[in-house]
Amino acid sequence: MKLSLWVASAALAGFCAPALGGLIVFFFDYSLDAGGIFDGSTASGKQAQAAMDRAAQVFSDRLVDRLSAIAPTSGDTWSPRIVNPGTGADMAAPISSLTANVIKVYVGSRSLAVTEVGNTVIGYGTASGSQAFMDSVQARGQAGALANPKMDFGPWGGSIAFDDSTNWYFGATAGGLTAQKMDFQSVAIHELEHLLGFSVSQASWLNLVVGGKFTGVKTVAANGGIAPTVTGSHWLGMSSAVGLGGPSQVALMDASLPLGTRRKITQLDWAALDDAGWEFAIPGDANADGVVDFLDFQAIESGFGETNSRWAHGDFNEDGIVDSADLALLFKNYGKHSDGSASPIGASEEQALAAFAAEVGVPEPGTAGLLFSIAIFAVSKRRR
Ligand SMILES: [Zn+2]
Repeated sequence: MKLSLWVASAALAGFCAPALGGLIVFFFDYSLDAGGIFDGSTASGKQAQAAMDRAAQVFSDRLVDRLSAIAPTSGDTWSPRIVNPGTGADMAAPISSLTANVIKVYVGSRSLAVTEVGNTVIGYGTASGSQAFMDSVQARGQAGALANPKMDFGPWGGSIAFDDSTNWYFGATAGGLTAQKMDFQSVAIHELEHLLGFSVSQASWLNLVVGGKFTGVKTVAANGGIAPTVTGSHWLGMSSAVGLGGPSQVALMDASLPLGTRRKITQLDWAALDDAGWEFAIPGDANADGVVDFLDFQAIESGFGETNSRWAHGDFNEDGIVDSADLALLFKNYGKHSDGSASPIGASEEQALAAFAAEVGVPEPGTAGLLFSIAIFAVSKRRR
């Protein structure tokens, strides 16, 4: 892992994040793919690119953080650098600015070490100019990334190299994943989590490693009150639930993945990113805009019944299926904001929710007042 070479600044008091709309998006650039596994003119290359997009959705569906633009003006210079994914050599990244919420990732393939299937290096480089500009490069509006010690991360991007001689499986479902193949999607999600800061090269993550244990409070809580063991930029022998109350699995950020195995991101993997400064949509917030509202209801309504699904379509318990369990989570959190506040629920919204709940048969009322009022509404409707 390369260390960051920023010439930037210490913490700046009174730093404020600008209000920004839109989700975080990963822009993948395959122009440095020397090994050719992402060659868009081949069926296999198209599948590989599609798998990268699915891996990116795992994070962009959930992240509530908004990253400010890197926009040099007169007197500002930005010289981003990457490890070329096609050669392994340091090089200037061919970009001069970035729009808000974009994370730029150079993705390619080459021959990696015998046991290595993927390798991520967080982007680095130098910047000069106004304090505000250098802060935007270093932190992208994440105030905690300018604090000392660092408590957040606002990356511009970096590079990911995949091994070009591995027998990859690029499919969306695990059905065709044979014992001889390596699951690309699992590795891609793993590498993107490194890029988002699960790495010894990233201070807000590394600062939480004490004596070989990851001490972030959310991570410790997700691991039953015990700080999980790390080795380098990976968990060591840790398992965790996939989704809320889901099945246990070896954590995705373990150092190795056996052939023929698909792994999903686990609660432990999410929690470490949370502790390192990222903020996540609460269950029900399908569009990750920081509040569970009618737009999210519409997302789960149209995605209802979908299999091999995703958070943005309503799979809030991460079991791959959009069903009544997910709808119950949306109802439980309806009106709630990521910051803990709540908005009142309009009568027409309640009516629409109640109608859909009746249609699909939500299993049992949760603890929220909303479900109680849905029950009342159903009764009063019958009386009319
Ligand atoms: Zn790794």
